[in-house]
Amino acid sequence: MPQTIVAGNWKMNLTPNQGVTLINEIANATPEQNVQVVFCTPFTHLAQAQQAIQASGKSNFYLGAQNCYYQASGAYTGEISISMLQEFGVSHVIIGHSERRQYFNESNELLKLKVDALLQNNIIPIFCCGESLQVREANTQNSFVENQLVESIFHLDETQIQKIVIAYEPIWAIGTGVTASTQQAQEMHWHIRNVLANKYSNLVANNISLLYGGSCNAANATELFALPDVNGGLIGGAALKTADFCAIIKAGN
Ligand code: PEP
Repeated sequence: MPQTIVAGNWKMNLTPNQGVTLINEIANATPEQNVQVVFCTPFTHLAQAQQAIQASGKSNFYLGAQNCYYQASGAYTGEISISMLQEFGVSHVIIGHSERRQYFNESNELLKLKVDALLQNNIIPIFCCGESLQVREANTQNSFVENQLVESIFHLDETQIQKIVIAYEPIWAIGTGVTASTQQAQEMHWHIRNVLANKYSNLVANNISLLYGGSCNAANATELFALPDVNGGLIGGAALKTADFCAIIKAGN
């Protein structure tokens, strides 16, 4: 069974102190649960977020980052290496979010390098894929998403691929308030699982957590997470609100 995961992507929101308050409130409001909760904070928040998570005593809370560079060190002004993240206890890193692909021109080839570097350092990549509205309207979303997987993660061997979390995030649903219907979400998650099974095996495919992302909220999380091939969510806007995020975590149980 894949692990159920609820990951919050804070994007470029909250100050470090506000982030600590949010983590404290969420920790106080949630009982110990099986669902893994990952707080993907901005880089500048990691030290305080690490302390807040440790102080919460929650063994199911993890610290994540939203990006990294693949080189170990060097003259890469403005970039953050994986070993820098590891000093703060980061266990997960979001890779290939559509905003990074769109605004920072991150290509499938670059993401492949980042995935490799993370796995070499025993960090879990939350690998994002998903199509634009244009691709969805042309009804070519299945081959589009498959190509993203082929070009960035299908070079991995059977052991490595099982260390990855995949987040399907249709771009037209991110931050728009338009959620994929349960049918659209299940169809794509099934497709991804099937593609993984064909490349590796059923056993491998059934071991990989597939998260849904895109306007997932307190009202729709329960039905989305109940879908057979959805194993939790990557949450943007709703991850910034204590009550909403707590309800989403509960839906993951
Ligand atoms: C995201 O940015 O990963 C995301 C899913 O955002 P939102 O939940 O706000 O649509």
